[in-house]
Amino acid sequence: MPARLLHGRDRPADAFDPRRGQHSSTRILGWLAAACPPRIGKLLAVTDVDLFIPILTFVYGEAQLGGRAAVVSTARLQDGRGPTRSPLFLSRLLKEAVHELGHTFSLLHCGQEGCVMSRSVNLTEVDAKGETLCDDCRACLKQGGPEKAEEHERP
Ligand SMILES: [Zn+2]
Ligand SMILES: [Zn+2]
Repeated sequence: MPARLLHGRDRPADAFDPRRGQHSSTRILGWLAAACPPRIGKLLAVTDVDLFIPILTFVYGEAQLGGRAAVVSTARLQDGRGPTRSPLFLSRLLKEAVHELGHTFSLLHCGQEGCVMSRSVNLTEVDAKGETLCDDCRACLKQGGPEKAEEHERP
């Protein structure tokens, strides 16, 4: 699938929550979806700000299930040696990017060990999964996703 890197200078005005000191991933998604030109199929935003949804301490990312917008954050994917581009960090970022994009293609969380669509709430779980879809998720993607879909999916 062809991909293009965009360097938009605009930022959502209402995404930062001063009480939490974090950015709302859901508000970023709404902003992205509204800003996404019709010609663009999927829009994945990569940010270094820390993301949250109200019921969780943080999220690595969020996506519109079956929609066009997804966001991932590098804030909690570092390998402990500062903001490097180490292979481990890049692998984590790739997994979270593929995971959130998977949600935009209507894929749900997967129980298959190693599948990139498995839910990961900490780095141990991120590191434990692979960078690709399992056979079931791949088949699901080819069929256009599962029948039933919620509005949003996280994390
Ligand atoms: Zn899977
Ligand atoms: Zn997910």
